[in-house]
Amino acid sequence: MIPPTFKCGKCGGSTIIEPQDGPGVCESCCEDHDYLYERYEGYRCVHCHGEPPPDWYDGLDYD
Ligand SMILES: [Zn+2]
Ligand SMILES: [Zn+2]
Repeated sequence: MIPPTFKCGKCGGSTIIEPQDGPGVCESCCEDHDYLYERYEGYRCVHCHGEPPPDWYDGLDYD
């Protein structure tokens, strides 16, 4: 099964996810990553589905 791909609204590149209210953005065009934990996948940006950089995890509060 081929995963669905959408077009980035800024550069025309492929994106993994697309919001219901408009074109999505690819990882490099995403200006405001907002990482949320997704089951089975780990943390992903809700806008571009990108993974957080390694140092991003340092800011997590584990308590
Ligand atoms: Zn793009
Ligand atoms: Zn993003």
